[in-house]
Amino acid sequence: MSVSLQFQNLRIEGSSRAGDASWFRVHPPGLAFDVGRGSLALAGASEIFLTHGHLDHALGLPFVLSLKAMQGVESTRVFCPADILEDLRRLVEAAESLEQASYRYSLEPLEPGDQVSVGRDLSVEAFATDHVVPSLGFQLVRARKQLKDRFRQRSAEELAELRRDGVEIEDVTQELWVTYCGDTGTGVFDLEPRLFESTVLLLECTFFGEASRSRGQRFKHLHLSDLAERAPQFRNQDLVLHHASWRYEPTEIRSAVEQELAGLAPRVHLLMD
Ligand SMILES: [Zn+2]
Repeated sequence: MSVSLQFQNLRIEGSSRAGDASWFRVHPPGLAFDVGRGSLALAGASEIFLTHGHLDHALGLPFVLSLKAMQGVESTRVFCPADILEDLRRLVEAAESLEQASYRYSLEPLEPGDQVSVGRDLSVEAFATDHVVPSLGFQLVRARKQLKDRFRQRSAEELAELRRDGVEIEDVTQELWVTYCGDTGTGVFDLEPRLFESTVLLLECTFFGEASRSRGQRFKHLHLSDLAERAPQFRNQDLVLHHASWRYEPTEIRSAVEQELAGLAPRVHLLMD
């Protein structure tokens, strides 16, 4: 089962529950953030970004590569934290050996600050997060072009001519379009404060309620109270919560969000069935 959320010209499809499976596809450009335990919906992604090696996020990698090999799809670029690259390579090679097949993929290590182009005007930048194993988060950055003020009155022909002459007629700004933190404890808010400015923020929220208050700290996950404490800082247009533990029902989560995040609640979406 997966859920699809539409934000103007951005569509996010995915499925995410703690300890079960987490994966997302972001359109455009159609890339995947994590692969869960594998899903048919991931076969179309030509770039896959893995946040960390926990099996509920990464086990699906050989399955997805196998699926693509059967469909004869061109090579897939897989990006992951540098520290887990060799383990992932062995996992994929074991699957290739089991299937007596060879998959077409490249496995590329990322460090915080690294950038990867994922299409016209789009790139992904890695940042550090706060989890119990080596981990990264990812930002989809969109270059937005706007005609410079002094060229506003020009005709289309004049603009075309200026362009031909190599004149820079547009200003380019970099918009943090989507930020995905993967699994993380509260350290991420200091490690990557730009996440508060991202247009859309995909943020894990694993625990809810007083009884689970200390569990977030212990397992390096977020509790709803961690978000409530920082509510005024979230300047995002849309905040997508995911990775809730199966012990909570969607109705229970929705009412906790409405009570504890109050002013933020209208901008909060839950990515769960
Ligand atoms: Zn994890």
